[in-house]
Amino acid sequence: MHARAPSPTRINLYSDTQTRPTPAMRDAMARAECGDEQNRDDPTVNELCERVAALLGKQDAVFLPSGTMCNEIAILVQVPRGEEIIAHETAHIIFSEGGGPAALAGCMIRSLPGDRGQFDAADVEAAIRPVTRYHPRTRMVEVEQTANMGGGSVWPLARVNAVAQVAKAHGLVTHMDGARLMNAVVASGVAARDFAEHYDTVWIDFTKGLGAPVGAVLAGSSEFIAEAWRWKQRMGGAMRQAGIIAAGCLHGLDHHVDRLAEDHANAKSLARDLAQIPGVVVAPPETNLVFATLDRPAQPVADAAAQQSLRVTVTGPRQLRLCTHLDATAAMCAEAAEILRRILSPR
Ligand SMILES: *Cc1c(COP(=O)(O)O)cnc(C)c1O
Repeated sequence: MHARAPSPTRINLYSDTQTRPTPAMRDAMARAECGDEQNRDDPTVNELCERVAALLGKQDAVFLPSGTMCNEIAILVQVPRGEEIIAHETAHIIFSEGGGPAALAGCMIRSLPGDRGQFDAADVEAAIRPVTRYHPRTRMVEVEQTANMGGGSVWPLARVNAVAQVAKAHGLVTHMDGARLMNAVVASGVAARDFAEHYDTVWIDFTKGLGAPVGAVLAGSSEFIAEAWRWKQRMGGAMRQAGIIAAGCLHGLDHHVDRLAEDHANAKSLARDLAQIPGVVVAPPETNLVFATLDRPAQPVADAAAQQSLRVTVTGPRQLRLCTHLDATAAMCAEAAEILRRILSPR
């Protein structure tokens, strides 16, 4: 997943984290009003937190440097040491956070299988541990909306609600990793606050499809956010004139949400083009992530693509991920498919 591509990369479909701040976003950042964020005196950060809390239907929110820190802090506040989180087996908290839940919070994760990065309420019910002193206590259920390694799939509202309902019936905490929640919103037409309604804690990332250089916002009850601030301080995540970066996030919220539909359309046509290549199987994308399963090892294909200035991600022995975003035009996506076609079926 982390092979270094030879530069220069002309078509970068490695991730939606690869976007660069636009001139208009840089302008907004340069003009941002600032204060001391650590004292909650930065007006731009405060505005961002208020906007995101309202967007997600929560009492309060806290600005953090990354989505990873949002997950870690949500877990640290809500899951006591030795207790257990139920999450999908492809979850970001399992794969991509350096073992943070274990190293920082000392908790266990019970991973569930399921198509496209999802499970349902019955799976959760079956995974909740009986209450005896032999078992870890089940404490949290986590869902990823959209499910990254599940193909960028959108959890249907009814499923998200049913999972939360079972969790609540057993006294569990519910957490939504909303790194790409706004992609789910644009793809489904369901409001963010509706997806988040039965989740105690939820966050969105500004460095993915929304195109900002730094920042994520974690939302929840006022009580939760007060505790989250304690961890933010403790982990060195409390900032100073962070309005500069928060302004980039606000700009993303104002200008880059509706346009996610373009990324989704580009992903669909990219998937159609890739599916034409013999030996390539592509799951129809629901959002901006395209997963292609090959009839041969994926790494040499990704290396050959990199030689032609196309960067993609190897997500499995025979699997590639291509991600559409703000800096990937329809023409680049078409060319990407053409490059892969030439590599995979040379004439
Ligand atoms: C990217 C991502 C994260 C982590 O966000 P960072 O801002 O990169 O730390 C967490 N969860 C999912 C599903 C992601 O895709």
